[in-house]
Amino acid sequence: MKNKVLEFNKLVNTIFNEDSVPLHRPVFGSNEEKYVQQTIKSSFVSSVGSFVEQFENNISTHTKSNYSIATVNGTSALLVCLQLAGVKQEDEVLTQALSFVATSNSISYLKAKPIFIDVDIDTMGMSPLALTLFLEEFCEIRDEGTFNKNTGKRIAACLPMHTFGFMCRIDQISKICKSWNIPLIEDAAEALGSSFKGKFAGTFGMFSAFSFNGNKIITSGGGGMILTQNKNLAIQAKHITTTAKKSTNWEYFHDQVGYNFRMPNLNAALGCAQLESLSSFIKNKKKLYDIYCESLPLIGYAVVPIPKNLNWNYWMISIELENKREKDLFLKETNKNGIMTRPIWDLLFKLPMYEDCQRDGQKNALALEDKIINIPSSARG
Ligand SMILES: *Cc1c(COP(=O)(O)O)cnc(C)c1O
Repeated sequence: MKNKVLEFNKLVNTIFNEDSVPLHRPVFGSNEEKYVQQTIKSSFVSSVGSFVEQFENNISTHTKSNYSIATVNGTSALLVCLQLAGVKQEDEVLTQALSFVATSNSISYLKAKPIFIDVDIDTMGMSPLALTLFLEEFCEIRDEGTFNKNTGKRIAACLPMHTFGFMCRIDQISKICKSWNIPLIEDAAEALGSSFKGKFAGTFGMFSAFSFNGNKIITSGGGGMILTQNKNLAIQAKHITTTAKKSTNWEYFHDQVGYNFRMPNLNAALGCAQLESLSSFIKNKKKLYDIYCESLPLIGYAVVPIPKNLNWNYWMISIELENKREKDLFLKETNKNGIMTRPIWDLLFKLPMYEDCQRDGQKNALALEDKIINIPSSARG
């Protein structure tokens, strides 16, 4: 088994032509430096500047979204999406345990509670079947909303996540949420550029959140984006992420408790340049995926296949190992040799703050947790 890992290491060294290979490294062209320098020369590096609006418009164009609102990171974008969807203290939000911790944290910031619905094996995102089973067993629609009969709490939103740029069965989930009258919010942090039947990730829900952290498919250093298709919601999102200042002149009149979640112009400049390269990143990543698919089975590793009907952004490539023992050995022998690999997340209900959250059987999430490993996925130049 160890020889197999050593062959994997050798292969990755060859593909990347490097001794030490990170999991995901951003690629920068000349416009990154040019635009960032423009902000420095103009002195508008902070919360005012034209790159922010440009970045918002360009994200809208790329995703065919009506509205996009830039934020300081993806986590703050998620928090604002949930708040504007009406999530309040004591509410519950349907989400998945197989995700990065920010998905559930954004629910906790509002003093609401996650409920964990199982995922599908192929998409690794929320399962519409599991969602339906949960709703039918535990929930009822009342005048004031949909309620969990188990806890007596209101189900205020549904927050699925598009794992590694794969899209969950978002069209089906959207239909289910409509029939149960539950606002849908997509955690699309990893899925910029992925689409299903021509419709982009992040444009199915009432809101969605993207991240431009350094490890995502494009980066603004740090940053996020809220998408919505509704003008009124877009106005509210801009308003509360920019301190809820009402006046347009010099008066400091704020009409509610807002946030300073603005994306600095400096970061937006970097994001604008990165977005210009998104399609070439996707093309290069596809090439890498194809190379892995050709060569990894020859040494005995199974690349996780692309779910059907998905136009994938190829953000993060993963392999499926036999069991936890092989997984632990693989992680040790790759990372020790400078090949950075990472396991899929610990399921969120295993973290101390989410131990007592209601969940279904989690059969698929548990199976994936034991076997899925991310392998180096940078877009090579
Ligand atoms: C990266 C990520 C986030 C958070 O984004 P930040 O910009 O780091 O705050 C949220 N959810 C998922 C699934 C992510 O991968």
